[in-house]
Amino acid sequence: MKILLASSEVYPFSKTGGLADMVGALGRALVKAGHEAVVVTPLYRGIRKKYPDLRRVDWHFDLPLGHRHAQAGLWELNRPGEAKIYFVEQAGYFDRPGIYLENNVSYADNAERFIFFSKCVVNLARYLPWHPEIVHVHDWQVALVPALILQAQNEGWGNRPATCLTIHNLAYQGIFPSEAFALANLPAEYFAPDGVGAEFYGLLNCLKCGIIFADSITTVSPRYAREITTEELGCGLDGVLRQQAGKLTGILNGVDYNEWNTTKNPHLLRSYTVSRMAGKTYNKRELQRQVGLPVDETIPLFGTISRLAEQKGVDIQLGALEEMLNCNIQFVQLGSGSPEYERGYRELAARFPGKVAVQFGYDENLSHRIESGCDFFLMPSRFEPCGLNQMYSLRYGTIPVVRATGGLDDSVIDYGQNAELANGVKFYEYTSRALAKAIRKALAIYESPELMREFRRNAMKADFSWEKTVNEYVKVYQQTTVK
Ligand code: ADP
Repeated sequence: MKILLASSEVYPFSKTGGLADMVGALGRALVKAGHEAVVVTPLYRGIRKKYPDLRRVDWHFDLPLGHRHAQAGLWELNRPGEAKIYFVEQAGYFDRPGIYLENNVSYADNAERFIFFSKCVVNLARYLPWHPEIVHVHDWQVALVPALILQAQNEGWGNRPATCLTIHNLAYQGIFPSEAFALANLPAEYFAPDGVGAEFYGLLNCLKCGIIFADSITTVSPRYAREITTEELGCGLDGVLRQQAGKLTGILNGVDYNEWNTTKNPHLLRSYTVSRMAGKTYNKRELQRQVGLPVDETIPLFGTISRLAEQKGVDIQLGALEEMLNCNIQFVQLGSGSPEYERGYRELAARFPGKVAVQFGYDENLSHRIESGCDFFLMPSRFEPCGLNQMYSLRYGTIPVVRATGGLDDSVIDYGQNAELANGVKFYEYTSRALAKAIRKALAIYESPELMREFRRNAMKADFSWEKTVNEYVKVYQQTTVK
């Protein structure tokens, strides 16, 4: 099949979270499976310097944006075995220090930036001589694309591609003042207030627009697909999603094991396998050294890597650690985000010197070392559409301790669920107490070398490779038809 993937971030060119990992890996997996996949994404600051192989394409965008026009250029990168990547160059919008924000403040013109980018995607889908059969868009930044394609069809685009929207996180909907809708140059009926347009309590809701007008919708785990149709986790869109449930599928993200592995990984000091675990112990000691914790392989080491956002359960984690750090354990965290949560971690580190190491900012190398060096990985998310770190942990033989929600529930097996295949610890209630209890269970496993070995073996054998997952996407593509 011929698939055009559109996303505001794609690993390794840009990344703020799992979206980038997923789109980068999906593109490659589709190509490996014999399909033609092309990715389109903005040309952010620094990409050209880092990838000198980028070539300018003879393509000039000049597109209406409300009452005016905006221009852009196009670059491409072709790498063997990878999906071709198109980069939309619009210096005013994308040559900035951040992708969405700076100093924790979102760019004021995000609606304009990404509506323009969405229009570039539609322009490519329509006029590239390579005509895609499917345009697969990801998250709110490109969620107006299905409506724009539908409108182009109404205006005479025969044989348009089918559209598929993937929701990576329903909590981020791209909500803007209603005036932003004018930038899309869509007829007023697309803003209809009766549940069938982009209007949401008087505002523009980009994701809602995508949910309504995409030919099919996927989200990143089966459990999250069910959860988002409930009031509790529907973020105000559960009604719309229930209406559209017939076209909604949940597909657990795969893991790019080329990047996330323990045998050929430039980020790791020592490699290891399920039958030769000495390298993991070495990495643990080196991690302790690197982050300034006492070097002692016998002390259970817990770790976490995440955006410091409410979703990630930082509040209950701080509460549980406050209690559990009185035991002989160590904790290392890497994250960036809310200054309030950063303060919380700094205070925790100050209260438990020699037991807590906190690192802030974005650090890919350290993220691999934490995944590898820890014994347990904490993910107490309030909600988690898919979550990647628990799957990375499994591959690294690091036992995930997770709240049973979304993709965490779909990817981790608790002893209570299946004693033979158990590879992690799950808890249910969103409280510090429940997490502390789960940490106590983890410590009980740690006490028994035999159990620990078994959990690790199960963890490292779990297979979330894209080769398996990609077929589920292809099935959705094949079933997605133009209305
Ligand atoms: P989300 O997309 O909600 O942030 P995921 O678990 O799906 O959560 O994906 C997070 C991705 O971002 C993982 O690849 C994780 O390793 C990475 N990541 C998050 N925070 C950091 C950080 N501070 N430094 C390096 N990598 C990070």
